[in-house]
Parts: sequence; structure tokens; C-alpha cells
Amino acid sequence: MKPLLFTDEPICQENYLACGDGNCIERGLFCNGEKDCNDGSDENACDIETDPNRAPPCDTSICKLPDCFCSEDGTQVPGGLCNVGPAGADCQNVPQMVTITFDDAINNNNIDLYQEIFNRQRKNPNGCDIKASFFVSHKYTNYSSVQFMHDMGHEIAAHSITHNDDEGFWTDAVVDDWAKEMAGSRLIIDKFANITDNSVVGLRAPYLRVGGNNQFTMMEEQAFLYDSSITAPLQNPPLWPYTMYFRMPHRCHGALQNCPTRSHAVWEMVMNELDRREDPTVDEDLPGCAMVDSCSNILSGDQFYNFLTHNFYRHYDQNRAPLGLFFHAAWLKNNPEFLDAFLYWVDEIIESHNDVYFVTMTQVIQWIQNPQNVDEARNFEPWKERCNVEPKPPCLAPHMCKLATKELPGEALHLHTCVRCPNNYPWLNDPTGDGFI
Ligand code: ZN
Repeated sequence: MKPLLFTDEPICQENYLACGDGNCIERGLFCNGEKDCNDGSDENACDIETDPNRAPPCDTSICKLPDCFCSEDGTQVPGGLCNVGPAGADCQNVPQMVTITFDDAINNNNIDLYQEIFNRQRKNPNGCDIKASFFVSHKYTNYSSVQFMHDMGHEIAAHSITHNDDEGFWTDAVVDDWAKEMAGSRLIIDKFANITDNSVVGLRAPYLRVGGNNQFTMMEEQAFLYDSSITAPLQNPPLWPYTMYFRMPHRCHGALQNCPTRSHAVWEMVMNELDRREDPTVDEDLPGCAMVDSCSNILSGDQFYNFLTHNFYRHYDQNRAPLGLFFHAAWLKNNPEFLDAFLYWVDEIIESHNDVYFVTMTQVIQWIQNPQNVDEARNFEPWKERCNVEPKPPCLAPHMCKLATKELPGEALHLHTCVRCPNNYPWLNDPTGDGFI
């Protein structure tokens, strides 16, 4: 049953709308996640096109930097540094940003990989080490390793406590579930990786199962700066990140992503799908892929190298939207050929381009808020933070805490940290591990 939103004569008084059965309820009750009409129809027309409380389309006379950024089709460049039009783009003045991210636990299975990639030989044109962002889930994470990666200038962001493998959980989770998972994850990271600079400001939903308005309402309430879970279908030119005050500039990708419809004070570091066509000059109908390891047709190092090169120039030669390369460590660990190709490609880019920067998600936002051309970028202060850091372990001997929690009965769990061991294994209802009553 659909609500009666479009009738010749309005059925209801102002600020009320009609349910499918003709009863009027307050406009704000539509698409709030609870059935308020007797027939439940107020929750039946709630996508970006139909939610009566949806955010308005981008209005650049209201949406101004540094706190708001949008464009009608999502492809325009912040600060008007160049024009992007049907005839192409003229963006040589815009530094090309590349965001490498890794998801899930950081521990002994992958810390050596991260040290190999971020080996302090690979530098941005400003002389600083290349940087990446890590979306960290809690279970199996070694927090002394998280502390090390943070000390080295990489960004740590939240990826939930439980990484609940019931994927539908994330789609339907209420605001409080999202808060426990993500604000809880941030609290655990801050405490056990001893992060005191409030730099955990981003999050990614497990399985990219975006949680709609509930997720974004939580993010506002808990003062998260950005999400990076929404995927955009492969398109040319690709999309720049945007704020969620206004309607998102692309369609929501598939039924698995529950995109927010209302206005939210949150940045979206949109995940542009990558083009995985073996021969991009042939227009075969192959959908893009968001996480690199879901581009399942990549089978050899050469294919991966060609894939990286093609997608890089798809950004570099068009509107220079940040190029996102989103990984799980295992994909590179289990396929040394892919790792070799990846490092070869990174080194080649660094060697041959003086306008390409491997930066964190937060550094992308800082640039968008204060756009710098290629010349200015070399001295852009936010990109010089923790420029070159001498790698040293955050403590001589991390504590190896053997712990348990009533929330996971019977499980013996380990937590590695440079701070003192808590009483219990930190979990949803006891993120400090101090115990709860
Ligand atoms: Zn994950």
C-alpha cells in the first residue's frame, strides 16, 4: 500500500500527509522507520525520489565551503578550480588525490604488509610519506599496531565492534545500534591505541551495508565527520565527495544500500566504482566494482596494473575527483603478484607525476574545504602533518591481555595494547572493558 502523496486536491491540512487509507498523519512521521499509518503506508515510499522529508536538490547559493559542498551532478570541482562540461575538463591545476584504504582488523596478519607498502621511501610531491586510511573493526585487532599506524600519520577510522555478519543487521539497525557499534568502536580505538587527538572521525559500514537515515542521524549525534560506505555506479566523469545537507547527486546503488534521504551534516566520501573492463575501448556491459577485491575478473598482476593505470587516468584526465583504492589486506597478502603490480604502479605514479598525492580521507576533506592548486598544494599545512615519522614501536612490550566478556560467553579473547589491560574484553555494552552493572 502506497501513501496518497500526489492527489489533485490536498487531502490533509498543512504539514500533514495522507496514508494509503486516506487518514492524515504528520509529515515528519513519514519515513521515520516506524509505521504510523494503520496500513503502514507511511514507510512504503521512502527512497531519494519519494520520501516527503527528503533533502532538497543541491542549491549552490546556500551550500558554501567550508562546511557544505555539492554540485547538481556531483562531478564539479571544489573552489571552481576548473570547468567540467560536456566538452571535457581542464583540470591540470587540481592536485590528483589518491585514497588508499584498508578495512577490518589490524594485527600480525597484515601489519608487515602495511609496513612494506608504507615503507617511508614512497613520498608525495611535498616530501611527506604517502598516507592511507584504515577502517578498523574491533575483534582480533592489535591496538599497539593501531597506535603504530596512527603514529606514522595514517588515519584510523571506525568499522564497528562486532562486524556483525548478518548483513541485513546493518541495513535495518536503529540509531542506538549504530551508536553502540561505531561510537563504541571509536571509544575502544581511542582508549586502547591511546589516540588523544580526536582524529577518529570517519566510519565505514561493514559489507558497505549503508544504514540509511538511522546511520546518518547517529553520525550527527555522535559528531562523526564522514562516512565512506555509499557506492556510486561507474560513471564518467567520476564523483567528488559531497556533504549530505542536500540530495545525493547519484542514484542509490542497488537494494543492498539503504541510502539516507534526509538532510544530514555529514561528509560522504563516496566510493566511485572502478572500471574493470579488460579493454575499455570496447564498450562491453560490465558493471564496476567498489572494493578492489570484488573486481573478480582481475586474475594476473598485469591485469591489475592495467586496471590501476586505466582508472587513474579516468580520474586524472577528467575532473580529478579523488581516486579511491579500497582494499582488504588478505587480497594483497594472498596474491603476491597483485602486491608487486600495486607497488610497481604506486612507484611509477610517484616517479612520473608531481601533482599526485596519496592522502587520508580527512586530508581530502581538508583540501576540499580549502582548495589549493598544484603549486599551493606543496605547502598545504594539513598535508604536512606527521610528514616523515621515524618508525618506532609505541611501547617496548605491549600487554597481551587474556580476557573474556559476558557478552560473548565461553570465548577467550586477546587484546594487545600499550595501555593497561582492562577487566573485561571490550564489547558493545562495555566498550571500556571496565565492567558494567
Ligand atoms: Zn569489513
